[in-house]
Amino acid sequence: MKKIEEPLIVDGKRIDGRKPEEIREIEMRVGVIKNADGSALVRFGNTMVVAAVYGPKPLLPKHLQDPEKAILRCRYGMAPFSVPERARPGPDRRSIEISKVLRLALEPAIFLEEYPRAVIEVYAEVLQADGSTRVTSINAASLALADAGVPMRDLVVGLSGGKVDGTLILDLNGKEDNNCEADIPMGFMPRGEKITLLQMDGDLTPEEVKKIIRMVIDAGKKVYEEQKKALHAKYEKEEVV
Ligand code: ADP
Repeated sequence: MKKIEEPLIVDGKRIDGRKPEEIREIEMRVGVIKNADGSALVRFGNTMVVAAVYGPKPLLPKHLQDPEKAILRCRYGMAPFSVPERARPGPDRRSIEISKVLRLALEPAIFLEEYPRAVIEVYAEVLQADGSTRVTSINAASLALADAGVPMRDLVVGLSGGKVDGTLILDLNGKEDNNCEADIPMGFMPRGEKITLLQMDGDLTPEEVKKIIRMVIDAGKKVYEEQKKALHAKYEKEEVV
């Protein structure tokens, strides 16, 4: 719902100068947390998330183990300095929801059955929040899992779409996120276009929903290319060393 008076689109341009379907500048790096088995830093404009993966490793205490497959544990958090007004450390309702959403978005991509009795821990920490942090976390977590060598069916791409001032847009920034008519965060595996996360907040017609999903999947292919480039960059460097 719009809480501000000012227009979010002027002469076809958004408040940060983007065209409706343009996504923000993307930066992706893997292997940034040396203690972890896998890690990644992902930035979409001013939204920045670092993810770290530990495991697969034996799950303790033993009674929590699943003899059929590994358990995926995800924790989403916001650094106290990630928003202008200090975010309270520790889990709140929103971060508990996003942690669950993150797990559900990633599980279909992982061959969990290859690691019975194990746990894979995924941490996503928002360093700077400017909209679409859950989808940015999906990109970071997915890259960190791949960096940890966890076998996956495909990388999971995260990207948001929505509607502001009557216009369908991609990759919502913070102001758009908080003042949009609707927003749809999505996670999907590009190969086979399998959607693993689809949420919606706001009002849209069925046609608009279909259109946004298509826009996200098409533009998400660019995000997928960036993910693959980031992984290649690390391993190309390692060959030289
Ligand atoms: P997402 O970050 O996935 O879009 P939300 O829709 O819940 O999830 O949040 C929208 C945006 O609101 C965030 O990306 C962030 O920019 C802002 N935001 C979230 N929590 C806070 C907070 N505690 N303080 C200030 N801004 C926040």
